[in-house]
Amino acid sequence: MQIEVVTIGDELLLGFTIDTNAAHLARELASRGVAIVRRTTCGDSASEIASAVRDALDRSGAVITTGGLGPTSDDLTKESIAAIFGRAMRLDDGIVDNLQARWKARGWPGELPKANYQQAMIPEGCDILVNNHGSAPGIWLEDDRGRWVAMLPGVPREMRGMLADALLPRIEQRLTGTPLVIRSRTLRTSGIAESALADLLGPLAKAPFGLSLAYLPGVAGVDLRLTARNLSAGDADALLGQGAEAIRAQVGTVIYGEGNDDLAAIVLSEMRARGLTLALAESCTGGLLGQRITAVPGSSDVLLGGVVAYANEVKVSHLAVRPETLAAHGAVSEATAGEMALGAQKRFKASAALSVTGVAGPGGGTPEKPVGMVCFGLALGDTVKTFSANLYGDRPEIRERAAQAALNALRRALAKHS
Ligand code: ATP
Repeated sequence: MQIEVVTIGDELLLGFTIDTNAAHLARELASRGVAIVRRTTCGDSASEIASAVRDALDRSGAVITTGGLGPTSDDLTKESIAAIFGRAMRLDDGIVDNLQARWKARGWPGELPKANYQQAMIPEGCDILVNNHGSAPGIWLEDDRGRWVAMLPGVPREMRGMLADALLPRIEQRLTGTPLVIRSRTLRTSGIAESALADLLGPLAKAPFGLSLAYLPGVAGVDLRLTARNLSAGDADALLGQGAEAIRAQVGTVIYGEGNDDLAAIVLSEMRARGLTLALAESCTGGLLGQRITAVPGSSDVLLGGVVAYANEVKVSHLAVRPETLAAHGAVSEATAGEMALGAQKRFKASAALSVTGVAGPGGGTPEKPVGMVCFGLALGDTVKTFSANLYGDRPEIRERAAQAALNALRRALAKHS
């Protein structure tokens, strides 16, 4: 089966919204053996939508659209596509009832606004694709030659939910024979450069087990993505399993997780399993480390608190950093980082504490302490360890890399800690 995707929205054409829907659709369908053969983006006007969908339908006979299902005047997807199929629009009472129930359940005042009734207008003879994550129903429209268009919402969370709940099962039912899939598995590393990782991988660095291997560097670290192409789903998964296992065995602890795993969540679950608590002392990250940790549900049973100690006086008054240490080594130094960590550990009576102090830039660098130099402290039990790193990128990147490096240091220390 070959499918074309049409993503709809002026915002996409103007570059204000990045087309993540098309990327998600491509990945999900390829992993089930369905190729997306062309992607088109068009604006919100009825004529542009009709012409983009008509062309796509003529070429492939199977089209998925996203966007333009909402209740406002720029949401013209359904009418434009119904016209291609020569179908009239009708009001669906079931959808109206659902919309009214949602309106009441949210406690919003008054009656359902008139504009919402547009969401209950559907083409004659269509199937409704259920939306478990929002108000706009999706639409499946098919002609007597079996050519179809599936209309999904633009909001990514709703689009992904509807794809999984309603559209993929429908598409899978239509597949014949054993589909040949494209599937990937991603291993996440931290604290190692792309080139060093390639060296460490040795013979696995290129096409392990015939799988393609992509190195994807980012602020969180280098992700390693293994991809299997044109195999049955079972063979692809088995080969990806072998490849991932071999890479894990080869590079060991530089891998902290897989897929979308978040290092903060991994560190928290390690600490929780050991009954440990955490305190933070942040200078150049200004609370970013705390934000990363508190973004993880359930973090309150591990994180006790933190101090954003930007000024030297606050490092002294709130973290008991000694003025002599600051005078002798400066705020950006391993000596200060060590005392910050110890101060936070004592102040919050935590089993562990992390500290970060550095030069995030763009100004403030010196030959001895250039922009990107960041010092870290890690107090764990009775020991305090410090280290520093020269991080690169602009200010936001340096801060993000610093938070990730601190978490990674804690992860590695926990692995050695009984
Ligand atoms: P709504 O009911 O919110 O109007 P809709 O189905 O009409 O939903 P749009 O109005 O086209 O969808 O888009 C809603 C929001 O979804 C946009 O503001 C944008 O943030 C996001 N969005 C739309 N299309 C895409 C896309 N292709 N990729 C990523 N995000 C998108």
